[in-house]
Amino acid sequence: MSEALAGLHRPYRVASIRLENAATRTLVLDRSLAADPGQFVMAWLPDVGEKPFSLAGADPVCLTVAAVGPFSRALHTLAVGDRIWLRGPLGRGFAPPSPAGHALLVGGGYGVAPLRFLAERLLAAGWHVSAIVGARRAADLLLVEALAALGVRLWLTTEDGSVGLRGLATDAFDAALTAAPEARTTVFACGPVGMLAAVAALCRTRGLPVQLAWEAHMRCAVGLCGSCEVGAGWLTCLDGPVFPCDPTVALPMG
Ligand SMILES: Cc1cc2nc3c(=O)[nH]c(=O)nc-3n(C[C@H](O)[C@H](O)[C@H](O)COP(=O)(O)OP(=O)(O)OC[C@H]3O[C@@H](n4cnc5c(N)ncnc54)[C@H](O)[C@@H]3O)c2cc1C
Repeated sequence: MSEALAGLHRPYRVASIRLENAATRTLVLDRSLAADPGQFVMAWLPDVGEKPFSLAGADPVCLTVAAVGPFSRALHTLAVGDRIWLRGPLGRGFAPPSPAGHALLVGGGYGVAPLRFLAERLLAAGWHVSAIVGARRAADLLLVEALAALGVRLWLTTEDGSVGLRGLATDAFDAALTAAPEARTTVFACGPVGMLAAVAALCRTRGLPVQLAWEAHMRCAVGLCGSCEVGAGWLTCLDGPVFPCDPTVALPMG
């Protein structure tokens, strides 16, 4: 899609709805977009507002939405056939290096949604894919069966120990690396900012390349308002949301 069209809202209809867990559902829309995993769209509902959502799939467009506040709850009220307006794809997505190697995906909360889209692309390009999926408790885990069905090797963590390893997603990091095939590992992560900073620190000390899908409060999403600036001058909407470092501690290049 051209940049000009990416800046305009286009109408979509909800084609189907998948219930992912008690608080999260995936809206499957009626058309596709040319986009990379890690890119996002601005979703608009008239009289409600507009918020960014990662693409959980692009053919057709899928949005995986956790109901936490007014806008996300309004998205949960949409039924099959209802309209939603999107602008995008926006931002920089994940950019897997070549040749293909071993990918370790680390996802927390709804951050797992773009990682499933990424896993599909990586597997199609010949990567070995492992994933750590973390949540507070078993009922909050997201897309575990979908990732397993793709053939992704999984490590699960829950803070209350109800499933998998008790602890945070980063507590499974070394186990997932040790079990990895010989190939060089690239780490791809999406989730809460605290988890991303911890993953970046682990990758720094182990000398591993990393790509982090960062989240910041966003308004215009096209680099004008500055509300998504993080660290010393990164704009999450244009420079990210996927960064090859922790943008709060690394300076922009150039
Ligand atoms: C690049 C980007 C991609 C995003 N992708 C997704 C996505 O794929 N799916 C998705 O559901 N959201 C995604 N978000 C978040 C989304 O844009 C909204 O912020 C979110 O839906 C909450 O909006 P709201 O108006 O419903 O609630 P708000 O009024 O904004 O928030 C209500 C309360 O919930 C808290 N909160 C906000 N988000 C969460 C959360 N995820 N978990 C727990 N508490 C939270 C807020 O701090 C606040 O206290 C993304 C944000 C960015 C910047």
